[in-house]
Amino acid sequence: MFSICKRKYFYHYYNKYDQKIPVRLIRDLKDLSSIPLATGIAAHEVIEALLNRLGKTNQDVDRVKFMDYALRTSEHLTKSSQFHEVYYQQIEGVAIEDVYPKVELSLENLLDSDRYRWLVEEAIETSDDWVIEPGGYGETRMDDLKVYFKVDFLFPVGDLLYILDWKTGKQDAERHRKQLVGYAAWASYHFEVDADHVVPTIAYLHPKYEEVEEVFNEFDLEHFAIQIRAETEEMYEYCRDLEQNIPIDKSEFTRIDDPRICSICEYRGLCWPDDYPVASITEEDANSWALRDQTDPSSSSLLNQSLG
Ligand code: SF4
Repeated sequence: MFSICKRKYFYHYYNKYDQKIPVRLIRDLKDLSSIPLATGIAAHEVIEALLNRLGKTNQDVDRVKFMDYALRTSEHLTKSSQFHEVYYQQIEGVAIEDVYPKVELSLENLLDSDRYRWLVEEAIETSDDWVIEPGGYGETRMDDLKVYFKVDFLFPVGDLLYILDWKTGKQDAERHRKQLVGYAAWASYHFEVDADHVVPTIAYLHPKYEEVEEVFNEFDLEHFAIQIRAETEEMYEYCRDLEQNIPIDKSEFTRIDDPRICSICEYRGLCWPDDYPVASITEEDANSWALRDQTDPSSSSLLNQSLG
């Protein structure tokens, strides 16, 4: 988030320091879901239940009942979430048809994959040691910095530790590679094994089942630690009091000028009120909160130009 848009990072982590916009509004926006997010959450929840069951029995899954469970999980999420697509009046409402078909296909793809067969037939032997969607965030130390990683599924086979990370979204080689190194670092630290004994894998569930796996060595981890250190130091520059984690002025957290990114951001109504009006923000609010800040280089007129 920090590398993509500093303003988003501010709204996400430092919203209580916003001197103009009510914190409640920023937090309401922060809590908004989206169709891709709800799809991913539903798939993760159902796979978690599938793996927990698999840890107890390798009897065939009753697909009809399983898919019914997936449908109800998706329905619950669809009904209980507030979606930014609706909030910004792009669509009237989110229906189960907007979420479930992708969840269903993702799960079918997993159940039909060689990986799932291998889990049922071989990996199951160590199911007592499986770590499935652990709560909280796994803390790791890298170069004296605290770093947190959250894995979906970790399990040992032979002298290797496998990590699977489910994705329902698009492939993103660079970002996901970073995630894989992070998982290797976490598992290596936490379970005291050499990095090259960890097999972190991204499992893309949609539109077809595909895996990207990479094994790293100590040199990769050292290089990763250097990157983390550099990124952390850059973040520190945005704090005026590091101890208390108090940020510098919000105006320093610049807005990105990229309509592709802003058009799917939950805070777009704050950054670009003319393009994404928020019903609860009046003209007067927008002006007094300086939402139309012309001194910001990425002003809304620039956005309008780039949108054509
Ligand atoms: S709308 Fe754009 S500029 Fe504003 S926080 Fe989101 S990504 Fe950043």
